[in-house]
Amino acid sequence: MNDKKNIQNDQRLVSGMKQENNDIALRPRKLADFIGQGLGRRNLETFITASVQRQDSLDHTLLHGPPGLGKTTMAQIISAELGVGFRATSGPVIARAGDLAALLTNLAPRDVLFIDEIHRLNPAVEEILYPAMEDFQLDLIIGEGPSARSVRIDLPQFTLVGATTRAGLLTTPLRDRFGIQMRMQFYSAQELVDILSRQSKKMNIKLADDGAIEIARRARGTPRVAGRLLRRVRDIVAVDGASIITKQAADSALLRLEVDKQGLDQMDRKYLACLANNYGGGPVGVETLSAVLAEQRDMLEEVIEPFLLQTGLLMRTPRGRCLSKLGWNYLELEPPKEMTAQLELLGRQADYADENLK
Ligand code: ADP
Repeated sequence: MNDKKNIQNDQRLVSGMKQENNDIALRPRKLADFIGQGLGRRNLETFITASVQRQDSLDHTLLHGPPGLGKTTMAQIISAELGVGFRATSGPVIARAGDLAALLTNLAPRDVLFIDEIHRLNPAVEEILYPAMEDFQLDLIIGEGPSARSVRIDLPQFTLVGATTRAGLLTTPLRDRFGIQMRMQFYSAQELVDILSRQSKKMNIKLADDGAIEIARRARGTPRVAGRLLRRVRDIVAVDGASIITKQAADSALLRLEVDKQGLDQMDRKYLACLANNYGGGPVGVETLSAVLAEQRDMLEEVIEPFLLQTGLLMRTPRGRCLSKLGWNYLELEPPKEMTAQLELLGRQADYADENLK
C-alpha cells in the first residue's frame, strides 16, 4: 500500500525525487559549472583547495536540503575536484556492520564515500561509523558467543560525504562528526534559467530566453524539476510541430501538464484545499493531513511542504500546519472571520516555530 503511494508521488512531474536516469549526462562535473548555492559553494571550494594543497583528505562533509537541489551532484564534484575515487551508497542499503566494513576497507587514501539518505542508517551501523570517521579505525566483533572477539582494523584516511533531506533526524553524535556542513538552498529563477540554458544546449533543444524564464519560474526552485519540465515541454512542443520553446509554448505545455503559474501541481492544490475545506485553514497536525490525503508523512514533510512553506502559502506553527493569508488568496477563498485576527499571530508563531524546527 505504502509502495503504491510512493509510486504515485514519485511520478509527480514537480516532485524533487529521483525518477529517471536522464539526469546523469546533465550533471555538472566541475565546481565551476555548478550554478548557485553562493556562499556555501564558495566555502566548499576553499576547503577543497586547502585540502588539495595539504595533500590531505577533506573533512567529512554533510549536505542537507530538499530532494533535487544537487546534493549527489555536489558529492561527485567534490571527489572530482579532489582528484580521488568516488564510492556511492545509501543509508538503507547498508543493512549490517559487515556491509559498511566491506565498503570502508576497500577505499583508497583520500577517497570519497558518499552515503545518500544518511538519516536512514541502521543504528548498529552508525555506531561503527563513529570511530571510522573520527579515528579511521573499525572495531568489529568476529564470531559469536564465548568465542567472539573484537578486532580493530586501520582504515585509510577517507572523506565521508553524507546527504540527507532531514538533517533534524540525524543523531547528534553523527552530525557533530561532520566538520563541514552545507545547507542546500532553493535556486533563484535566474539560476534556474542558467541551468536550463546549459541543459538545453547539451540536449540540443531550442529554448528561447523567455521560454527558459517561464519554465524556471514554475520549477519550484529545484534543478531536477526544471530539467524534468524542460523535457516534457520539449515533447509537447515537438509533437505540436513547433521548433523552439517560447514563453507561450512553455506556458500552454505546462498548463496541459497541470503545473500552474507558481509551479504548484494537483497534489499541492489538494493539500492546500484540504487544509482550507476540512480544517478551516488549520492549525492541523501533519499526521492528520497524512491520513486524510493518504500520503506518507515523510512525503509531505520532505517534498510537498518545503516549497509551500518557502512560497509563504503554508505556515508551520507549534500547534500544526496552517494556511497563510497568501494561501487563502491562492485558493481564491476568504478565511473564516475568526481566523483573520489569528492569522497575524499565527504568522509570528510560525516564524518562531520554523526557526526552532530547522
Ligand atoms: P539531490 O541529490 O539533491 O536529490 P541531484 O544532485 O541528484 O540532487 O541533482 C538533480 C539534478 O539536478 C541533476 O540532474 C543535476 O544535473 C541537476 N542539478 C542540481 N544542481 C545543479 C546545479 N547547481 N547546476 C546544474 N545542474 C544541477
